[in-house]
Amino acid sequence: MHKNFKNIEKVVFGRGSFSTMDSILEPVRKENDHFFVFLVDNYFKGRELEQRIPARPEDVVRFIDVDPYEPTTEQIDSLRDEILQSKGLPSGVVGIGGGSIMDIAKAVSLMFTNEGSSTLYQGLNLIKKPGIYHLGVPTISGTGAEVSMTAVLTGPEKKLGLKCDWTVFNQVILDPELIASVPRDKWFYTGMDTYIHCIESETGILNNAFSHAYAEQALKLCQDVYLGDEAGQTPENDDKLMVASLMGGLSLTYSEVGVCHALSYGLSKILGEKHCYANCVAFQHLEDYYPKGLEEFRQMLDKHQIELPQGLSRDWTEDQITRMAQVAYNLPHMWNHAIGPDWKEKITLETIKDLYRRM
Ligand code: NAD
Ligand code: ZN
Repeated sequence: MHKNFKNIEKVVFGRGSFSTMDSILEPVRKENDHFFVFLVDNYFKGRELEQRIPARPEDVVRFIDVDPYEPTTEQIDSLRDEILQSKGLPSGVVGIGGGSIMDIAKAVSLMFTNEGSSTLYQGLNLIKKPGIYHLGVPTISGTGAEVSMTAVLTGPEKKLGLKCDWTVFNQVILDPELIASVPRDKWFYTGMDTYIHCIESETGILNNAFSHAYAEQALKLCQDVYLGDEAGQTPENDDKLMVASLMGGLSLTYSEVGVCHALSYGLSKILGEKHCYANCVAFQHLEDYYPKGLEEFRQMLDKHQIELPQGLSRDWTEDQITRMAQVAYNLPHMWNHAIGPDWKEKITLETIKDLYRRM
């Protein structure tokens, strides 16, 4: 009934704050086998940021390609096994990248100390021991993965997070300079994840004064960034979007996401679509559930000349639509929040299939 939420232990915010990392890591270096693992989005390989990573000769720096697939359980297990066998137990893990890298860093830090495959721990509070120290540096804003209690992984059976108190980062560095290079389309889709988190958090039975305060502020920031007189990718807006992402994540943690995220999970699990893009594809058809949010979302699409695909479902088989609807239906906490405890009387597999057919 009452969520007892574990927040990030420490946060540093501000342009240029990436440079504080070396001194932040220093006291942690005495832990375990005295080396750090840096997991870095492949985008930064050969770019200026690579030179600024405070890695020492004993550390491991791994560049990870996060496209086109979302993080998998297999990827986490093999990364963990390989590092444990070759170097031992790290002092900590640093993730530098988007939501994918945030989730990989969180998951791998837990799996260093929990035996067996990460598939065993997909769900709530299944992790048995605290993981190792982990620090997150987001480089694209919107998912809220930098603050959330979950590390979402796609496994052979399900797309589900390793969710527990120990998943949350020990430290986050929010340096808005790092998101300046995000291409416009990804800036839009990932930012819209925050926008949709807030709309869904606000529209449902679990909304409360606490989640509302965060959502209200994050929505205001999104409106400035995407619709204001100074809308667009400016340094000031990058500051705002980075804070909005964090607050959107906090809002949904104290409330819940809804119909759009349920449908988005189906698109990701069955068709492999990326989370933020899948949300946008689904959200444009949810006038029955989020009419006001959708109206504003359409203004944002127009303003930034983003065109979302139409008529996708013409190419989907009945079997694919059914399987996507099953994935979405099996997220009862989202439907309960969005529709109410009697949601099963209002939402059937057929209702959900019809929503997919609109896409
Ligand atoms: P991402 O991490 O998948 O990255 C998207 C793209 O942006 C990649 O091509 C990446 O290389 C590029 N990129 C990242 N930073 C860049 C930069 N500064 N400049 C240029 N390009 C850059 O993107 P995302 O949308 O942040 O994350 C999606 C993932 O987050 C999904 O796997 C999803 O499941 C997960 N997610 C997790 C949570 C959570 O609470 N844990 C919440 C929502 C989504
Ligand atoms: Zn989301």
